[in-house]
Formats: sequence, C-alpha cells, structure tokens
Amino acid sequence: MNVKWDLRDRVVTEDIGEAIFAFASQIYPICRSITGQGVRQTLHAIGAHIDLKIHEVPTGTAVFDWFIPREWNIREAYIKNRSGEKIVDFAQSNLHVMSYSVPVRQHMSLAQLKKHVYTLPDQPDLIPYRTSYYAENWAFCLPHRLLESLRDETYEVVIDSSLADGYLTYGEYLHKGETEEEFLLSAHVCHPSLANDNCSGVALLTHLAKRMAGVQTRYSYRFLFAPGTIGAITWLAQNEHRSQRIKYGLVVSMVGDCGGPTYKKSRRGDTKVDRAMVHTLRHSGLAPSILDFTPYGYDERQYCSPGFDLPVGLFQRSKFGEIPQYHTSADNLDFIHPKHLTASYRLIAETMDLVENDAVYRNTMPKCEPQLGRRGLYGMVGGDKDTAASNMAMLWILNLSDGTHSLLDIAERADLPFAVIRRTAQLLQRHGLLIERA
Ligand code: ZN
Repeated sequence: MNVKWDLRDRVVTEDIGEAIFAFASQIYPICRSITGQGVRQTLHAIGAHIDLKIHEVPTGTAVFDWFIPREWNIREAYIKNRSGEKIVDFAQSNLHVMSYSVPVRQHMSLAQLKKHVYTLPDQPDLIPYRTSYYAENWAFCLPHRLLESLRDETYEVVIDSSLADGYLTYGEYLHKGETEEEFLLSAHVCHPSLANDNCSGVALLTHLAKRMAGVQTRYSYRFLFAPGTIGAITWLAQNEHRSQRIKYGLVVSMVGDCGGPTYKKSRRGDTKVDRAMVHTLRHSGLAPSILDFTPYGYDERQYCSPGFDLPVGLFQRSKFGEIPQYHTSADNLDFIHPKHLTASYRLIAETMDLVENDAVYRNTMPKCEPQLGRRGLYGMVGGDKDTAASNMAMLWILNLSDGTHSLLDIAERADLPFAVIRRTAQLLQRHGLLIERA
C-alpha cells in the first residue's frame, strides 16, 4: 500500500497549538478591514512563514455583481471630553471605531454623538465590533457602561481615516501535489482585534501550510487568505477557469475556543470532504455538531453559490453567532487556547490524511473467507478492544473490497475509525490478500 501520503503523522506535533497561538497573538493587535494596511501587514506576517503570493486588485474592478471598494486606512481616533481627557481612544482598542468610518473632526453635543455610537446594553462592559463597508457613515463602539457615564457636555470627536482609491489585497499559497486536483483551505483576514474570529484560523492555516513543506501529497493544497465575502468573490472572479480543480475545501474560522467542534456541510452535502470531515469528527471522542448547508455564514456562501457549487464546508469550534463573545471585545487572546488549537489542527490534518489515503482495493481471495488464522492474522483469544476492532476491520475490508468500495465506504459501514481500516488494509496487503484497484 502507498504509505507516502502520510500527512497526519508528518504535520501534527504536540506543540503545534503553542506555535499557532503565538502567531495569533502576533497578528491580533493589527487593525484589519476588507482593504488597507492592516490586511497587508497581516499577509506580510504570514509571508514570514510561507512563500505567500500577494495580489493587489484596484478599486473599481468588477468582480461578478460587485466592485472592489475604495481602500480604507486609519491613523488615529478618539473622543475627548470638555476637560480634554480622551474618554475613548482607538489606540486602546481598534474595535472602538466602526470599520470603514469616514473621517470626522468635529465638536458636538452628547445627543449628536449618541447618533454615532454602538453599544451592547446586555453586555455593558464589552465593545461591539461593527462595520459599514458599503454605506458611508462613521461611528464609535464602546462599552454601554461608559456611554451611560458620559455627562451632557460638548465632545471633540476625531476619526483620522481615509477612504480613497487603492487596492484590495489577498494572499495565496499553493502546496503542489502529484495531481492538479486541489484541496482549498480558506480563511478570512478582514477582522481587527478578534482572536478566535479569525486570528485563530489564519494562524492555524499558516502553520499547516508551513508544516506541509516538503511533505509529498497526492493533491495540491491551496491556502487562501482573503477578506471575507469580497475577497472570496474576487478570488473566484479571477480564477473561475481554475475553480473546477477544487475537489475538496474547508473554510476555517474560530478554531481556538473550547466549543463544538462544528462542521457545516457543503451545499451538496455528500461530497468527499463532507464525508471525510463527518467521519473524522464522529470518531474524535468529542461531541461534534454537524449541520446542513445554509446560505448564511462565512465564505462557503461564495464557494457554494450555484454558479460554482464547490465541495467546500465550514469548520469551526463554536458556531458563529452562538456564543456571547462573538463580535465583541471578549473575543480576545484569553478566549483561545493552544490545546483547542491543537485539537482543531489535528481534526483538519486527519481529514486531509483521510482524503489523501482513501482508495479502492480488491480482495485477492474473494471465494469464501481466506483462512486468516493460518496466516497469524486472526483471533487472538480474549483479545483487547483494539484486537476486536482490527478483527472486525479485516472481515469488513475482505468482504467489501470487491473493487467498488473505498476504504472510507468501508469505514463508514463498519463504523470503525478510518485509521483502523487503513492500518488493517496495509496488513492484509502485506499478506497478499488485498491489491489496489488499478
Ligand atoms: Zn466575524
């Protein structure tokens, strides 16, 4: 049996979560948006680990029904009270300014200011994350408790931002395999200081790509780091002719918390990546939630639009929107942990390993059961659980390897982990009882 696609053992190490966490911490402070210097700085940081190809797409470029927006950058922003104290300062948290806020420099009353303030009354100590990419506006985001403490006086309000013709920036990295068929791994790079959503996903994929260097694979792996929605749309518009090479895909976001794991299936629902991910999760010892496709979520919405209908699912720990930390200042570095990043990384690597190693075999002695005992392959008396599982695996593999069922088909039907089925198939092959279908 081909053992060269040994992805899982080649890329997983116990300390991987620490490395991912360290990189997530490094990029966490950057003020990202769908365009601008924050995205470039983030891609530059990724580029220190892998040979990332960076693309700049000019403002106004048409991408399907959308246009690349103007580029947004921000230098500083604050609200000062009458005594000149900065009561809100962008330098303290980049969540304080609504992303894509137009510049403002004005004195105004509390009542006027309140028209441009977002808070979370139910979570009064947290700063919300807000954006206004396509409607020209400005706003500050602050803890509700702070807003309630403000006196009725005149405030100096400054947002030193710019919204001008420029570029949308995204990065991609291709790990070349033996075939041109691709496995897409996609993360959004447009959120400012939010650790789980999605510094965790960006950092996980960066380290996965880095660890894969030099590992021989059957498939090619495309890592895409692009702003949410408009970035995925731009990539699809620029690579429409190549998109049908994508045979498997995962959008990776929010992979550092203790929740889930959650897998949202592709639009088709029964593609190989869906089956591989579901199988891996069901045998993970965790309590996964497996969801059918819905047209709301992250960039799987674009990959699974009907004109593409690509086999791309969404992998997360907690489901987006269902945790109190979601899109607030509580999604900080305390919310993610190396051990959860390790677990998420392992699940993704195992899914890739499964896809790499799934193959169809043929039983060389299909007429009745071959005598396994004579070959020392069967029936260690009173065997432990592992022995029982490999005995069952042997019987299932021999029975279903008629040249039509793959190892994943067998693993699903036998309800045994793919790793057990694969290991047992290798054993049977060494004893001449199994050959790979040509
Ligand atoms: Zn988000």
